[in-house]
Amino acid sequence: ATLLDDGPAPSALEVLRRVWGYDEFRGDQAEIIDTVVAGGDALVLMPTGGGKSLCYQVPALVRPGTGVVVSPLIALMQDQVDALSALGVRAGFLNSTQQPHERRAVEQAYLSGELDLLYLAPERLRVRETVELLDQGRVALFAIDEAHCVSQWGHDFRPDYLQLSMLHERWPEVPRVALTATATEATHAEIAERLQLREARHFVASFDRPNIQYRIAPKDNPRAQLLHLLRTEHPGDAGIVYCLSRASVEQTAAYLVDQGIPALPYHAGLDRQVRARNQARFLREDGVVMVATIAFGMGIDKPDVRFVAHLDLPKSVEGYYQETGRAGRDGLPSTAWLAYGLADVVQQRRMIDTSDGDAAHRRRLTQHLDAMLALCETVSCRRVQLLNYFGQSGAEACGNCDTCLSPPESWDGTVPAQKLLSTVVRLEQRGQRYGVGHLVDILRGKSTPRVQQLGHASLSTFGVGADLSDGEWRGVVRQLLAAELLGVDTDGYGTLRLAPASAEVLRGEREVRLRREVEKAPRSRGAREE
Ligand code: ADP
Ligand code: ZN
Repeated sequence: ATLLDDGPAPSALEVLRRVWGYDEFRGDQAEIIDTVVAGGDALVLMPTGGGKSLCYQVPALVRPGTGVVVSPLIALMQDQVDALSALGVRAGFLNSTQQPHERRAVEQAYLSGELDLLYLAPERLRVRETVELLDQGRVALFAIDEAHCVSQWGHDFRPDYLQLSMLHERWPEVPRVALTATATEATHAEIAERLQLREARHFVASFDRPNIQYRIAPKDNPRAQLLHLLRTEHPGDAGIVYCLSRASVEQTAAYLVDQGIPALPYHAGLDRQVRARNQARFLREDGVVMVATIAFGMGIDKPDVRFVAHLDLPKSVEGYYQETGRAGRDGLPSTAWLAYGLADVVQQRRMIDTSDGDAAHRRRLTQHLDAMLALCETVSCRRVQLLNYFGQSGAEACGNCDTCLSPPESWDGTVPAQKLLSTVVRLEQRGQRYGVGHLVDILRGKSTPRVQQLGHASLSTFGVGADLSDGEWRGVVRQLLAAELLGVDTDGYGTLRLAPASAEVLRGEREVRLRREVEKAPRSRGAREE
């Protein structure tokens, strides 16, 4: 790169100060940058907001040639290039959204050595012309952003990432830096293996995000709960609300707008221009709430996102961590709030059972879901549980998550679990299966028309559960489902059935510890700090 070359090659720190105006490197940045500048490979695992971009942008300016950045985030390339240009860095991109003349201009700039950074979509590297183009110029380094996209275990798998090992084969002398915010051991190992980064230095940053308050609330009336959160704790704040389906994105956005909150929808089914416009408004205006599917957010650099709310259960802890990590990049207090209920478990178990793919694939999805459920049902610190999941054990209870602030009691739910499971057994003996509503009616001894019509008042478990409320019973069912002590049918009606491990509970060989439901009203952090 020639940006600063009125003299000898500038040092990394000079580049940081003169181009970005920052005083010091953060965390591992200096060491990562030194490694790459010296021609070595690096694998960087750093949480969102940790400062990954500088780890390749600075070396690209220090080393001769152009830094080539492989990124799946085509929609953001223009923004990234604009932001760099504003700093005086010469950047361009090549992707499928460009006109031929625009592409030629970028190629020409690269060939004449007038580009510091060149962003490429991974599929570009399958095209022979692109490879030949790179050969004719000078590559300073390769940065592989969102490197977890190479992992078939992960939630963002992109087949085009698999062929990125060609970078090493074709340009063995060019240093590579792979970066991701996803950091389970399995993903980490898989990235190193598939990208042929065996010689690379590994940099694993702490995954703690101390300014994020993690909260997982029992789902009651999710939209009303969300509105309460926004009004009491985040009035006028920018935030992201994640929903599972496009329909619920649209409905939730419309509901918030009705309530006077500037909310915008974002999902893959919207027009490309609409998506781009909504994303731009979210980034540029203050206090916009983006209601989105997980199609939104990767690579979004908005420092003052004050909350991330999930109205549906994420499919994995990796996904949850990444999505919530978009809050509070500026280091100021932020909220990660998730509403979670029985229907989430039923729905996700069913989605896994009916998903395409082989048994191993379904097993993997089940493992991901089980880890997410364990986080939801934990009675100890959420942050400790999250960090443990990412292999960072030994953290102390944070004192700032919901379970730290109001520790849930646990109770012995063995007897209620046995009552419920034996009701399921008795119904199965009659060749019948029902959903949670009817089961709870039987346990509580309610003489509904349905109970009368089916003669279920004659079941020996009719009325044996009158000591628990409807809500408490739903909590029992949810937790049994989460622990796979109870199963759910794939029929689409959420009917309950026995699971393989149910027998242990029925025979009294297994104690069932349950989390006592805490009251529903979300508390206010402001009130607590005073
Ligand atoms: P990531 O890609 O890891 O999510 P970014 O590279 O977008 O994170 O950095 C997050 C924010 O932190 C950006 O606004 C960036 O400019 C800022 N930042 C990164 N490194 C430094 C530093 N050394 N000093 C000050 N700010 C930094
Ligand atoms: Zn905690």
